[in-house]
Amino acid sequence: MGFGVIYALMAVVVAYAVEQADRQIINAKLEEYRVRFEHPAFRDPWATISPSMLRIEDEPFLVRLSDANNRTLFSHVPRSGIMFDDASMEVVAGAHDRSWTRLRANDDRTWTIGGVVLSAGRYLQIGMSSAHSDVIVRWLKDAVVFSFPPLLLLGLLGSGYLTRRALLPIRDLSRTMRAIEASGDLAARVPERTTADRTTGDDLDDLSRLFNRLVAKQERLVTAMRESLDNVAHDLRTPLTRLRGVAELALTEDRDGQTMRETLADCLEEADRLTSMLATLMDISEAESGVMKLERTRFELGAVAEEVTELYHYVAEGKGVSVSIATPSATNIAVRADRTRLFRAVANLVDNAIKYTPSGGAVTLKVRQVGAMAEIEVSDEGPGIDVEDLPRIWERLYRADKSRTAQGLGLGLSFVRAIVMAHGGTIEAISKPGQGARFVIRIPPA
Ligand code: ADP
Repeated sequence: MGFGVIYALMAVVVAYAVEQADRQIINAKLEEYRVRFEHPAFRDPWATISPSMLRIEDEPFLVRLSDANNRTLFSHVPRSGIMFDDASMEVVAGAHDRSWTRLRANDDRTWTIGGVVLSAGRYLQIGMSSAHSDVIVRWLKDAVVFSFPPLLLLGLLGSGYLTRRALLPIRDLSRTMRAIEASGDLAARVPERTTADRTTGDDLDDLSRLFNRLVAKQERLVTAMRESLDNVAHDLRTPLTRLRGVAELALTEDRDGQTMRETLADCLEEADRLTSMLATLMDISEAESGVMKLERTRFELGAVAEEVTELYHYVAEGKGVSVSIATPSATNIAVRADRTRLFRAVANLVDNAIKYTPSGGAVTLKVRQVGAMAEIEVSDEGPGIDVEDLPRIWERLYRADKSRTAQGLGLGLSFVRAIVMAHGGTIEAISKPGQGARFVIRIPPA
C-alpha cells in the first residue's frame, strides 16, 4: 500500500519533470524557427517554403506555419505516416503570444505542441512526440511491477520481526507471571535487557524493571515474615514449656490447696509474661520485616525526653537514682516520627539505665542535633557492659550473665533497635565496664 502510493507519486513527478523538459526544448525551437520565419524571404504568406529550404529533414519535431485563417503555409512532420489534420491544429491557434496543447496523433503518441504568433497573423507551432517520455514512464512502471512483490514481502517480514521484538518484554512478563502463579516461587524475574541491545520502546523495559522490583520487594517481605514467625515460635517455646512443666508437676504431686493456689498464681504470672513477651516479639518482627505502619507526626524530641523523665521520676527516686535532662535549653529539635513508639523506645533505655544504676547514681538524658541527625542519648552510672557482650545485647532474649539477677526478658534493646531502624535511624551503645553505659539514638530530623 505504502509502496503503491510512493510509486504513483514518483510517476506523477517524473511525468511532470519530463513535460517541463519537453516544453523547454519546444520553447527553444519556437525561438529558433520564429527567427527563420520572420526572415524577409518567408514574410510573404503565399511564398512556397519547403523543408529543404529550411533544412530540417532530420529534426524529430513537428513544425507547422499557418496563416491568420489557419490555413497551413508550411508543415513538417518528423516521420512519414503521421498525420495531423488542420482542424485539430486549429483548436490551438489563438491570438495570444504562446499557447500549449496536447494532441493525440495517429501513431498513438501524445504530442506536446507549443504555438507562437508571428507577424501578419501567422501562427507557428512546434510539436514534440511523447515517445521518449513514454520510455521513462514504462521503465518506471516495470520497476514498480518487478520490485513490488519482493519489497512487499521484505516489508511484511521486517514489520513481523519488529513487532515480535517489540512485544518480547510483554511475553517475558506474562511467562514470568505464570511461573510465579504456578509455583508460588517469588524468585522468578523477567529478563531485563541491557542498554546495548535495547532497540524497542523504553516503556516496556521500564515495565519489566518495575515488575522485577515489585517481586523482589514481595520476596524480601515474605522471607522476613517467615523468619520472624520462626523466631517468635522459637522464642515462645521455652516459656511455654516452663509453664506446662509447672502445671504438670503440680498435678503429679499430691499438694494441698494452698500450694496448689500458689502454683496457679505462678502459672498466671508466667502467662502474663508470655502475653507481654508475645506482644513485644510481634512488634519487633513487624518493625524488622518492614511491615510496621509508623504513625508519623511532627514533634519535638525534647518533649519526649521530658515526658519519659517525668514518668520514671518516682521509680528512680524509689531506687535512690536521679533522672534529669542535661541540656533543657537545646531540646527544641523537631522530628517526624511515630511519637508513641519512639517514646516507648526511649522509656526502655531509661528503664534499663535505672535498673542497672546503683543507688546514689544518676541517669542523664541529652537531646541535640549532630550533623544531619537528631540525637537523643541516655547515659547511666551503672556497671557498664563487657566488651564481649556489647555486640550481643541487641539480640532477642540475650541477657548478659551479670544481669541474670535483674528482672527482664532480654527483649527491650531488640525492640528499641527495631523501632529506631524502622524510622531510618541508628542506635549505638558506648560502654566500658565499671564506667556506666551510654545509648545514642539517631534519627533523621523533620
Ligand atoms: P533486659 O530485659 O535483660 O534488660 P535488654 O534487651 O533491655 O534486656 O538488655 C539486654 C542486655 O543488655 C541486658 O541483659 C544487660 O546485660 C545489657 N544492658 C542493657 N542496658 C544496660 C545498661 N544500661 N547497663 C548495663 N547493661 C545493660
